[in-house]
Amino acid sequence: MRLNWCWPSRAEDRFESWLAQRHEERVLAGETTPVGPCLDETFLWDLARRAKRIALSDPRVDHAANCPKCMSRLLELRGENRFRRRRVGFATALTACALMAVVVVVARYVMERNAPTTNTAVVAQTVNLWDSGTVRGEQPGQPESVSLPAARVRVTIVLPRHSAPGLYLVAITRDQNGNGLVAEATATTVANGDQQRITTSLDLRKAAVGPYFLSTTHEQDQAAYYYLLQIK
Ligand SMILES: [Zn+2]
Repeated sequence: MRLNWCWPSRAEDRFESWLAQRHEERVLAGETTPVGPCLDETFLWDLARRAKRIALSDPRVDHAANCPKCMSRLLELRGENRFRRRRVGFATALTACALMAVVVVVARYVMERNAPTTNTAVVAQTVNLWDSGTVRGEQPGQPESVSLPAARVRVTIVLPRHSAPGLYLVAITRDQNGNGLVAEATATTVANGDQQRITTSLDLRKAAVGPYFLSTTHEQDQAAYYYLLQIK
């Protein structure tokens, strides 16, 4: 692993290591003549780690490069250093992974905690129109109005007295001409004694709070029946 100064090209790298290897072989075979005394362990260790404070002009570097004893010790230390560095690198990678995992878990926890639960929860609601009059065409509106929350609603509508069984289209609109559609769904009636009920899901999360109209249209009667509706 080369961590110093610059990264040589592949070809240069190969040539350099070939030269170094040839040199090492000669030194270890005792073909060179070292100058000066043998080196202490501390200096060899610094050299193995390529410590920056060692100047290449230092005569001890020259000794290490030509002494079979010092060179073999240096090679050993370099191997140890590489191994240690790899282990540190592995540990660092492991720590980074663990940190990432912690970040992901914390982020998820924070997001879940901050998510408005009312936005995703389905609210079950019953709208009883059994005794309600309707607003049809030009007739005046009823004083009594029903209300639904601005949420995902699972609504059960008890249809007015004498309502026909069958498939109904349920819609929520801004006005009683069917304009400004907020949500619509179809549902088939289920009889409960004299009553006809329909149950369906309406997504009212995007509806602003205010007055609306709830309409029901029977499949065989194209006229829609409108009821005043308050979204809260
Ligand atoms: Zn030596």
